[in-house]
Amino acid sequence: MISLRKNIAEMAGYVPGFQPKDEAAWIKLNTNENPYPPSPKVAEAILAEVGGDGANLRKYPDAGSRAGREEAGRLYGFDPSWIIMANGSDELLNNLIRAFAGEGDEIAYVHPSYSYYATLAEVQGARVRTFGLIPGRWELDGFPGRYAGKLLFLTNPNAPLGFTFPLSFIEELAGRVDGMLVVDEAYADFADENALELVRKYDNVVVTRTFSKSYSLAGMRLGLAVARPEVIAALDKIRDHYNLDRLAQAAAVAALADQNYFRECVRRIRETRDWFSTELRVIGYGVIPSSGNYVFASPPDRNGRRVYDALYERRILVRHFSDPVLEHGMRITIGTREEMEKTLEALKEIG
Ligand SMILES: *Cc1c(COP(=O)(O)O)cnc(C)c1O
Repeated sequence: MISLRKNIAEMAGYVPGFQPKDEAAWIKLNTNENPYPPSPKVAEAILAEVGGDGANLRKYPDAGSRAGREEAGRLYGFDPSWIIMANGSDELLNNLIRAFAGEGDEIAYVHPSYSYYATLAEVQGARVRTFGLIPGRWELDGFPGRYAGKLLFLTNPNAPLGFTFPLSFIEELAGRVDGMLVVDEAYADFADENALELVRKYDNVVVTRTFSKSYSLAGMRLGLAVARPEVIAALDKIRDHYNLDRLAQAAAVAALADQNYFRECVRRIRETRDWFSTELRVIGYGVIPSSGNYVFASPPDRNGRRVYDALYERRILVRHFSDPVLEHGMRITIGTREEMEKTLEALKEIG
């Protein structure tokens, strides 16, 4: 008999979006990957880092990922001491929980959003609370005058629904939490606004970003966080000391440096998103205006599962959530214009 910690034995574990084996046969719109390749400078930088014979791989990478911090610092207007690079933003979410919430402490997140926060908290033996949204109001259901938990996660833009919280609302929350407010900005590059300025104003605000969506680098596992140097120093203490390999570090710098390519890619996805949203409304779908690279859309009969299954039969993969507040719709990633035209045709056929 193995003797696991009780919380590990009892937890279910996170189930990521389905990755089909014969990917080429599918239109894959279920994990918010970017349909465009990363900047060509990324592959160049990775190949240069490998070197002709791979000799560089013999050596450990820079433990501090300093080049990445400096590049991100220049881009966002922060000193590098306010930035940490990570092996995917999931690593940061995990280490934030490890740094701030011990066994029995409470963390919270806004529901619906990214349920992985709960999985990570369960590993720590922390307790998890969720706050629902009150429709039509910028208010969290049951949120106390002051929240005494260790961390509150706010996904902005919200995933899977796609809307952004007004900055004034996020700012008010920052003032009402005793612990840290983590603004998970996985999709902020597709939005008009972000919460970076609040990091300067409030010492308990952390913003996390990922290269997986807007920089087309889900396969490289890259993320970063912006926070006060004291918070960054704490996160530096707990991470693996070589958390980014040499290739990931080279990729991060090259991706951040090529802003022209990045902006064009984001522009195209936003354009396709807005076109697709309009077309969906024309065929009677309910669509929440989205600031991400996905839309949350519900068919006229509000039977998201039925349409998910019918799309699946046609080898179009979207995301359906069985959660009662989400089951009426689907989260559809924005692919290329051509992929979205095919998806729209399929939806018209399905009816
Ligand atoms: C994709 C996603 C992440 C994870 O990003 P990685 O950098 O790939 O780990 C975190 N939060 C949200 C809301 C996401 O959608």
